[in-house]
Amino acid sequence: MILKGKSAIVTGSTSGIGLAMAKAFAAEGASVTINGFGDSAAIEQERAELERVSGTRARYDGADLMDPAAIVRLVEACHAETGGPDIVVNNAGMQHVAPIEDFPVEQYDRIIALNMSAAWHMARAVVPLMRARKWGRIISTASAHSLIASPNKSAYIMAKHGIAGMTKAVALEVATSGITANCISPGYVWTPLVENQIPDTMRARGLTRDQVMNDVLLAAQPTKRFVTPEEIAALALFLCREEARSITGANLSADGGWTAQ
Ligand code: NAD
Repeated sequence: MILKGKSAIVTGSTSGIGLAMAKAFAAEGASVTINGFGDSAAIEQERAELERVSGTRARYDGADLMDPAAIVRLVEACHAETGGPDIVVNNAGMQHVAPIEDFPVEQYDRIIALNMSAAWHMARAVVPLMRARKWGRIISTASAHSLIASPNKSAYIMAKHGIAGMTKAVALEVATSGITANCISPGYVWTPLVENQIPDTMRARGLTRDQVMNDVLLAAQPTKRFVTPEEIAALALFLCREEARSITGANLSADGGWTAQ
């Protein structure tokens, strides 16, 4: 168990990629703090299962990552109860699909707050704790959209490019402190986030569900299959290993060849 004794926060881990990461960390013995929204009984079931698998404490914190003060409270509570965090994954995210001229301003503000600013507030809060322990892993779930663009996703693409920039900046600041900062850039992963944007894309582009799946989403992905949450979790886990200590400031693609084109 390579993460025995380590404490990890994974934001947005009540479903999708974040939940797969929480499970991967717990399977290696980490004390995991999960976060996100959803049915409270289902969340409690996941938390209890993480505790069973890891053999150590698993916590749930319902902090709204759009609120900077709530992020600080999330970190403080994790520190008080576990001594960590040693590992933080900035993963919570949302999407809204619309042409820029019709893009609702409040949706733009929410995407920038959750998909970008939350990662900065998190890094700001955890770096002093990680410096004190001379070890840390800051991982952010970026996207192929941190490297390239697609139409009708302007706010998301701005936020993900921002994540890639923050990763490089923070990596340089903590380079001699035993802390690494990296981001992972998946292509299309089959999760609720992707499923939920299909109706908007159908409307925005006048397409059927099958056309959106095959001609829009998988059209960009040369492997012609969705990435799985478990593949992304395995990469995040690798970044937590000692052997990964020279990987820092990197933007690691796991996109089925999308950005190779
Ligand atoms: P998901 O919808 O399954 O999970 C999103 C998580 O974020 C959920 O746990 C949700 O409850 C949580 N969340 C939403 N708003 C929140 C808030 N205000 N505060 C705290 N938590 C909140 O989505 P996913 O596909 O697993 O996405 C996870 C990350 O991966 C996102 O950052 C997303 O941009 C990124 N990503 C996803 C894909 C993909 O194809 N699915 C591709 C590239 C990047």
